[in-house]
Order: sequence, then structure tokens, then C-alpha cells
Amino acid sequence: MYNTMKKLENLVYITSREDCQAAIDKSGCVCKCCGGILTPIETIDNSNQPTYWSGCASCQRYDYGVKPIIHEIAHQLVTRRFYRAYHNEQPDETKDPIAFEYWLKSQIGGISAQVQDIIYLYKELCTISINI
Ligand SMILES: [Zn+2]
Repeated sequence: MYNTMKKLENLVYITSREDCQAAIDKSGCVCKCCGGILTPIETIDNSNQPTYWSGCASCQRYDYGVKPIIHEIAHQLVTRRFYRAYHNEQPDETKDPIAFEYWLKSQIGGISAQVQDIIYLYKELCTISINI
């Protein structure tokens, strides 16, 4: 009874801020869209319990991030090689810099996810071929 009362008085978080920050620190990941730092963001999960999820305050989105090198590769693919994750129209950078910045971060985020998938598959397939 005491434990139940205590839990009701002091909200029990599924993942505490400290545990979420420790996981972020351990991962060494950055935001897949802007490359910025990830921080614990307070939220409510699907079971209506308070918790913290990793996310980017600058992009205002939840994100477990990618390694900085993956973000950099994605950034280069989008800006130098014109890779596109989404085929919506590119806003004019000088006429609408805010829309352009959002579009660019979205493109980099989408390509970051693809680069990460390619690296995971590469590692998986290399392991398989070594074991054959
Ligand atoms: Zn971000």
C-alpha cells in the first residue's frame, strides 16, 4: 500500500530523465535531421504512463538519432550529390529560408535513415559471408 501511494504521489516514469540521458550519451548519436544534440523529452507513452524519449529540441521531434558520420554522409549526399528522400518541391532558399531549412533537414533525416540501413545490411552481409 505504501509503495502504491508513493507511486501515485511521485509519478513513476517508465524511463527516467537520467536513464534516457544515459542512453543518449552511450549511443553517441545526433539528430538525424539537423545533426544536433539529442535530449530527453518528457512525454506520455501509449499506456498513458509518463516517460522520457530521446529527441531533438531544435527540430521538435522524437529521434533516437544516428552516428555523426552517418549524418555527415547523408548531408553530403543531399547537398553535393542531390539525393532526395522525399520528392516534394524544394523551397527557394532566398525567398523562403525557413521552409528551405525544414525541407533540407527532412531530406537529410530521410537519407540518414537510408545510410544507416545500408551500413547495417553491409555489416550483416559481411558477417554472413565470413561465416560461410
Ligand atoms: Zn534536430
